Amino acid sequence: MPGFTKPVRVIFGPEHDAFRVSVRAMLAREAAPRAEKWLADGVIDRGFWKTAAAQGFVAFAAPAEYGGLGLADFRFNAILDEEIVYAGVGTDAFMMANDIVGPYLWDLANSEQRERWLPGVVSGDTVLAIAMSEPGAGSDLRGMRTVARRDGDHYVLDGSKTFITNGIQADLVIVAAQTHVGDRDRISLFVVEAGAPGFGRGRSLHKIGRHAQDTAELHFDGVRVPQENVLGEVGSGFGALMRNLPQERLAMAVTAIADAEHVLERTVDYAQQRRAFGQPIGSFQANRFAIAEMVTEVRIGRSYVDDCIMRHCAGQLTAAEAAGAKYWATELEWRVVDRCLQLHGGYGYMEEYEIARRWRDARVQRIYGGTTEIMKEIVGRSVGL
Ligand SMILES: Cc1cc2nc3c(=O)[nH]c(=O)nc-3n(C[C@H](O)[C@H](O)[C@H](O)COP(=O)(O)OP(=O)(O)OC[C@H]3O[C@@H](n4cnc5c(N)ncnc54)[C@H](O)[C@@H]3O)c2cc1C
Repeated sequence: MPGFTKPVRVIFGPEHDAFRVSVRAMLAREAAPRAEKWLADGVIDRGFWKTAAAQGFVAFAAPAEYGGLGLADFRFNAILDEEIVYAGVGTDAFMMANDIVGPYLWDLANSEQRERWLPGVVSGDTVLAIAMSEPGAGSDLRGMRTVARRDGDHYVLDGSKTFITNGIQADLVIVAAQTHVGDRDRISLFVVEAGAPGFGRGRSLHKIGRHAQDTAELHFDGVRVPQENVLGEVGSGFGALMRNLPQERLAMAVTAIADAEHVLERTVDYAQQRRAFGQPIGSFQANRFAIAEMVTEVRIGRSYVDDCIMRHCAGQLTAAEAAGAKYWATELEWRVVDRCLQLHGGYGYMEEYEIARRWRDARVQRIYGGTTEIMKEIVGRSVGL
């Protein structure tokens, strides 16, 4: 019986296809058997992370002289992100290292900092986090209250961050804080190392979904950060965030389309098998039309996001295009996952069914990395409004 199949993609070459095969094999061998434990522990284990790193799947864009592969082709990142979603192992760890936090290090760190930090990131010994959001400032990043005051050859960091992915595990945290530059407060980035006096972590936050991923509050109480740990120029942090957030948002769009495709594929199967009133539930016109709409929209989304991937590889993706891709793809993901859960009836609400967990996990996609509303602000401003 024909079903929904993922569309043929034209953006990949043989080297990407081979990479996908090896990622898939690694996840089946190393991640799938551990996934239940990760959900129970609320965190992935270091052993897995180091194994994945040893096989070249962590920080592969880092320059070769620091142990990376110098593989600065976002198609590899996208493949890894997609395969994590298809495997359903529920970790954001690769996205954090490869797409979101790592790039700050290979773009902004000076050679001494690269030497200190990159080998550990590439080997999987050093887990990364980035701390922008605060209890009182998420969307409005310029409103952050964490401050860093100059004191001799150190900066003294005071404030709190919240919702920080990898917050429990991180060995290095890039912290955004206000610094007084000239006569104005400007955001700067500081690398805080685990164990620094005054650096505290709250409990692992209890989330609706993404239970295999740790998320935490972080506290900085007079943390003395040496000036060697300032990342980039003092006062240039906001610009660095604006340069790096488009890749973060594109990665989220990539995972959103992959999730929608996966859920749809499973749901079409289910709608062919499950019967009511003497016929498969997928053959009722209301359901057939709902599925037809989702199939069409997911294919449209796939084309658009693939186009964004290629524009990003060519260095042409704008902040507004990334914002548009992020909000449209994650809103689509949510509509698809929710509609597909409905097509599963009561079974969709049961933990044994994969769709239940995917529904819980999908919800945050419209919030983190910048909410749908903020993404629309960026798109709107880009056309002069
Ligand atoms: C699981 C998870 C992981 C996260 N990981 C990280 C991380 O690793 N690092 C990090 O720094 N942050 C992280 N975040 C934080 C995330 O980026 C913020 O939650 C998000 O940007 C929204 O900020 P907020 O929660 O303060 O909401 P608010 O800014 O308080 O927004 C509340 C509501 O108001 C709306 N709103 C705000 N401003 C406007 C406006 N101008 N126009 C219209 N509507 C508006 C928002 O869209 C939203 O609906 C994470 C969050 C979650 C839930």
